[in-house]
Amino acid sequence: LSDKLSRLVKQMRGQARITEDNVQEMLREVRMALLEADVALAVVRDFVARVKEKALGQEVMGSLSPGQALVGIVHRELAATMGEGVSDINLAAQPPAVILMAGLQGAGKTTTTAKLAKHLIEKRKKKVLTVSGDVYRPAAIEQLKTVTKQAGAEWFPSTPDQKPADIARAAIDYAKKQYFDVLLVDTAGRLAIDEVLMREIQELHGILKPVETLFVVDAMQGQDAVNTAKAFKEALPLTGIILTKLDGDSRGGAALSVRQVTGAPIKFAGVSEKIDGLEVFDAERHAGRILGMGDIVALVEQVQAGVDVESAQKLAAKLKSGTGFDLNDFLAQIQQMKSMGGLSSLMDKMPAQMQAKAGQVDMDKAERDIRRKEGIICSMTAHERRKPEIIKATRKRRIAAGAGVHVQEVNRLLNEFEQMQTMMKKMKGGGLMKMMKRMGG
Ligand code: GDP
Ligand code: MG
Repeated sequence: LSDKLSRLVKQMRGQARITEDNVQEMLREVRMALLEADVALAVVRDFVARVKEKALGQEVMGSLSPGQALVGIVHRELAATMGEGVSDINLAAQPPAVILMAGLQGAGKTTTTAKLAKHLIEKRKKKVLTVSGDVYRPAAIEQLKTVTKQAGAEWFPSTPDQKPADIARAAIDYAKKQYFDVLLVDTAGRLAIDEVLMREIQELHGILKPVETLFVVDAMQGQDAVNTAKAFKEALPLTGIILTKLDGDSRGGAALSVRQVTGAPIKFAGVSEKIDGLEVFDAERHAGRILGMGDIVALVEQVQAGVDVESAQKLAAKLKSGTGFDLNDFLAQIQQMKSMGGLSSLMDKMPAQMQAKAGQVDMDKAERDIRRKEGIICSMTAHERRKPEIIKATRKRRIAAGAGVHVQEVNRLLNEFEQMQTMMKKMKGGGLMKMMKRMGG
């Protein structure tokens, strides 16, 4: 899909402005990208409408190119939607500051409780106590005990025969007496949302009066995340979201859905099962992930630099797969250079120092040289371009005649190509993209 998106960006290059017509197809792709990333349908509609409004506004302001502008807008809007709000944990309360963990069973509440404990101890220098209100599964209390130890925090004992409300009162009492800064309260989850669970956690909320009520949600949850988030939002005044299992291969569209539905900021992301697998949520990066592009900003940069993203990617893939760099690629590169405005326009983008050096080169001659090379390669058959090693004396003469050059020039080009091939092999895929980016300034 990202291929398609970048192709559209390219197609749109050269069109003068964002209009109802050209924006439509692009927005369809954006909509598909979001749905594929498991953003809920209603959220997608809303988001796309907002982007469209902004994009059409851009037309009035007269931006660079419609494709660039639109990709930029989509990315910015995604990041802004997911990134507004305070990110770190709010501890502004009479100690102990209570943090209540809410979410479905298996979302990662217990694991995240310990991760947060570690974070608050190490980064905020707090004295942290944890307690489990999960009285339905004896193993859950033990689990919290184990991970709390790993985090270096203290664990307050509870047992399955207690009522969660009583556990909460006892834990707060203890935390006050022992001067804990923070009390983290892990709760029970269910496989599906049910009334009993919701009433229970509401009661806990009333007793604990938490400064943070965090909704823990599995990034792999997909479309269902919206319904879960709605239910928790109706039951509790959520103050933040923690998105877990972002180390999985989901595109994490749940982030956008949950953020939209709850209005609460996404504070952290879980990125491994281990206790240190917690990161401050990075909305910019996540926007790129949802769109299915590792770094859409890089794409926009490349578009701005005039690089043909698609063929560059193809080339990079070719090099990576070891299929080799042939004269067709060489030709594509020459043509790419032409589409970027030729050598002299590239020179303009280089630093002054390099320009001074380059000033000694006869630009006109260099441009002519490139055109001749193009002519030579165009005189070759498809087979010859793929397998330059078969080009011996007879073929060379034919090619030279076709391009209107001397045989020596054909030789020179073949030598140059060979050197380039060696260099490409050393650079591999990533290096090429980097090089092209650098060339684009
Ligand atoms: P709870 O039922 O909400 O308390 O969920 P748990 O904390 O017990 O986590 C459920 C499972 O998800 C466990 O196997 C955890 O190790 C795993 N888990 C939790 N957070 C993450 C995460 O960020 N990444 C990965 N890969 N696994 C996680
Ligand atoms: Mg648990």
